[in-house]
Formats: sequence, structure tokens, C-alpha cells
Amino acid sequence: MNELHWLIDMVQTIEVGLVVLDKNFDIQLWNGFMENHSGVSPNSIKGSNLFEQFDYLPADWLKQKMESVFLLKNRAFISWEQRPYVFKFKNYRPITGRADFMYQNVTLLPLSSLTGQITHISMIVYDVTDVAINKLQLKSVNERLEHLSQTDGLTQLHNRRYWQICMQKEFDRHARYGDETSLVMFDIDHFKKVNDTYGHMAGDKVIQHISHLLSQSLRETDCAGRYGGEEFAVVLVKTSAEDALKFAERLRNKIETTELVYEGKPIKVTVSMGISDLQDRVGNSGQWLSFADQALYKAKEAGRNKCLIYKSKA
Ligand code: GH3
Ligand code: MG
Ligand code: MG
Repeated sequence: MNELHWLIDMVQTIEVGLVVLDKNFDIQLWNGFMENHSGVSPNSIKGSNLFEQFDYLPADWLKQKMESVFLLKNRAFISWEQRPYVFKFKNYRPITGRADFMYQNVTLLPLSSLTGQITHISMIVYDVTDVAINKLQLKSVNERLEHLSQTDGLTQLHNRRYWQICMQKEFDRHARYGDETSLVMFDIDHFKKVNDTYGHMAGDKVIQHISHLLSQSLRETDCAGRYGGEEFAVVLVKTSAEDALKFAERLRNKIETTELVYEGKPIKVTVSMGISDLQDRVGNSGQWLSFADQALYKAKEAGRNKCLIYKSKA
């Protein structure tokens, strides 16, 4: 007899939610944890229907899970990652004060009668707010770190390392599917003069300004990076060399005609661009890049503020 009292005491005070439901989803047991967090006492809730009491519960989804527990006599689990909570309880934990609600893992357990039939099920509700918040924070920090490791700080374009990974991917994709793909490299003309005339800070602003104009011209699938100090590189997917030239000319023109005002002084720059598309003669991604670079060099030689497509010497 004592043991039963102890068990009841423990059920009442344990820091885990315990609910027993019958086949109609009427509540037969509602322990202290459930009372404390819901504000509803066992006496007032006993015998009433779970889904009428808590109309925010995802009734169809939860009933389906519970029916299968009755039918298959198996446990079922609901993890916070699948659904952050089943019962909408406030989170009072001081350490994880940032969570507005209690994250929960819930186990649905079949309860058999003396005759072996499953007449009831129990819901065991665990407060996993601490674990969930830690995991979510770690995830968001990791995402932030990943973004930082791929991004150039001054321009928010891809950094060289990550851009090269994207470029290699597009090169491989071309090898497999043969889509037309073009690479554009460009470099600011006489940039040393900008630094010498207006200062390094002004130079940085020019780099940012051009990155901004570049970003505005891109499609979602294009991959643009800051390749070096004042050098940029873009992979245009599903784009022939001729179409890449149109893109390059539009951007070149935009840069030439948009002036940047720095400390009251207007600064105008131009860029030179080299384009290389992926044709059979390109053996690897390094060569692809080198062809675009050679075209860029030719554009510089030809007087700058120009876009040229790479032409093989053969
Ligand atoms: P051109 O390309 O037309 O041949 O002439 P250029 O004057 O641009 O020549 P070059 O490419 O040799 O010079 C690039 C200069 O860009 C040198 C370097 O001091 C400057 N630079 C590189 N990175 C940065 C940067 O992040 N900020 C600033 N302000 N300047 C940079
Ligand atoms: Mg340069
Ligand atoms: Mg330059």
C-alpha cells in the first residue's frame, strides 16, 4: 500500500509531464508538471477531452499518431525537431530565457489493461528547452561561420577560395551536361591612380561601389567573387560567350557612367573585362580562368574600358 502512495507522489512531483488518455482522448491522469505549466488542475480537467481543452493542438496529426499506438501497440515519439512543442507552455528557465516556449519531446506509450488490451495511452512530456536552444544556437553560429569563411569582408561577394569552388562546380557541371557556361574576369583600370589621388579609403569605396553594381546585374544562379584586390570574377551559367559579352558590356557601361561621390569629390572609374566560354578546347578549370585572364590582358592592351572574348591563337 505504501508503495502505491510513493508512486503517486512521484508521478505528481516528477519534472516530466504525464498524461493518461482513454480511447476517446478523454484525460484520465494529469500530473503536477502538467498542472504547473498549464495552470489547469487535475480535478478540473479529469474526464474532459484533450482536444476540446486545448484547441490549438494539431488534432488530426496527433490523433493519427495516437490511433497507431492503440492499433500497433507500439510507442511513438515526437521530437522537438519535428515539432517544437505539443503543449504550448511558457518557458521559465532562467538560463534559456531566450525561448518563449518550452521545447518538448513527447513519447506516446500504450498502456495495457489486466486482460492485455490497450485501453489507454500515456503521453510523457519532456522539457528539452536547454538542449534545443543550445543546438539551435550552435546551428546558427555554424551557419554564420560558414558564411564568413566564404565571403569577402569588404564587398560581401564570395571570396576567392569559395568562388573557385563554385567555378569548379560549374566547370564539372558543364563536363556532365554540356550547358553553355561563361566566365568573366574584370579589373579596375588605373586603380593605383585612384588610391594615389583620393586615398586608400576612397579606393575601398570604389571597390564596394563596383561590387554593388555587379551584384545588381546578377541572376540568382550566377556566381560572383572578388578574385583579388581590384579584380572580380563571375561565372554565368547557361550563357554563351556572346551573351556574356552583352552582360559584360552592360556592366562596363554602367560602371563608366555611374560616378561615386567620396567626401564631396566625384570619382569615376572604368573596368576592362575578359570573357571565356567553355568549349571543347578548355581542358580544366585553371585553363578556363587563364583564358579569361588572357582576354582581360588583351582588353587592357587595347586601351582599357573594353570587354573582349578570348580567341585561341590556332
Ligand atoms: P591597370 O589594372 O589598369 O593595369 O592599372 P592598375 O593601376 O589598376 O594596376 P594594378 O592592377 O597593378 O594595381 C592595382 C592596385 O590596386 C594596387 C593596389 O594598391 C590596389 N589595391 C589592391 N587591393 C586593394 C584594396 O583592397 N583597396 C584599395 N584601396 N586598393 C587596393
Ligand atoms: Mg589588378
Ligand atoms: Mg587594375
